[in-house]
Amino acid sequence: TPLTKRIDPIPVAMYGGRQAVSMLPGGGIGPELMSYVRDVFKYAGAPVDFETVDIDPNSESNDDLDYAITSIKRNGVAIKGNIETKSKSAETLSRNVAIRNELDLYVNVLHCKSYPGLPARQKNIDLMIIRQNTEGEYAMLEHECIDGVIESMKVVTASNSERVARFAFEFAKRNGRKKITTIHKANIMKLSDGLFLETSKRIAKEYPEIEHNEMIIDNCCMQLVSNPHQFDVMLMTNLYGSIVSNVCCGLIGGAGLLSGRNYGDHYAIFEPATRNTGKAIAGKNVANPIAMLNAGIDMLHHLGHVQHADLITKAMVKTICEDKIHTPDLGGTAKSTDVIQNIIDYILTVDVRPW
Ligand code: ATP
Repeated sequence: TPLTKRIDPIPVAMYGGRQAVSMLPGGGIGPELMSYVRDVFKYAGAPVDFETVDIDPNSESNDDLDYAITSIKRNGVAIKGNIETKSKSAETLSRNVAIRNELDLYVNVLHCKSYPGLPARQKNIDLMIIRQNTEGEYAMLEHECIDGVIESMKVVTASNSERVARFAFEFAKRNGRKKITTIHKANIMKLSDGLFLETSKRIAKEYPEIEHNEMIIDNCCMQLVSNPHQFDVMLMTNLYGSIVSNVCCGLIGGAGLLSGRNYGDHYAIFEPATRNTGKAIAGKNVANPIAMLNAGIDMLHHLGHVQHADLITKAMVKTICEDKIHTPDLGGTAKSTDVIQNIIDYILTVDVRPW
């Protein structure tokens, strides 16, 4: 039950020093969603300062990109919107991919969990997607070898397959998960997906307490739609991970809800799970702010600010599950700012100070 005591005007950051984090708003709806994260963090008293880094999608130079990478290396942590790649030339690399590669963020983690009471195609889903995040079809090695013939390289390495498999099994062990399913197409891509699958089978032997099975990506897509509850943790390569993540988000409420976490050994980036730019709905006050707010909550957990994360989570869940303040993507008529105002109003009714 919320207490009625108000904190006025802004709660004081109480735990140790403040943490600087990089904020990369990206294009489309990114900047407006970031402004909501800032507002909510301010009222929740999250001891975090944002260093904003804008990347100009029209720029031919990589100066912005270099600055962003330097900033994340300095702060260790970033929250990020999607950066548009405007050029269609194969020489212009996606800045999103470049950042993940440069920081060696080799794992993407998506927790796909249903929100009770929200309109969704499937209820009571609680599964994890663990995705290789730096190679596979995202190697960005494409060329036209002769007129009208394009070759595109899918790169799978033993070392990255092992790192991501080990991450998945450690993750499952530490979080009480019971089963890992490796998703692949090793019947056709016998060498690349074959290596990924065989590596995961080898690592699975070190974790006998965790059940391991495998599934071909085609069947996996069908099973996700018809019987998603059979999945616990799903382990897969990069492009399958992108597609399966979008399927899962679609099952439980769309692009506006869930967040995704990118981890390497040294840095972490938090962002909306489906990595959309949302250009068509930018500036209209209709984008669902929850996915980016969830990215902010993930970041607070990562930094150890669990109480702030829990406070914002409570306010968010109350807003969408109980008060049912829904933007149009969830079938509602609320504006983005209505959702945020409701969250802030709730935070202001709760006394988070221990004295
Ligand atoms: P782009 O801007 O990348 O050219 P787009 O705006 O058509 O494309 P995506 O950014 O790929 O679409 O997003 C896919 C769909 O998800 C779009 O319909 C978009 O409006 C929707 N979407 C993405 N993020 C959100 C959000 N936070 N709230 C509501 N809808 C969203």
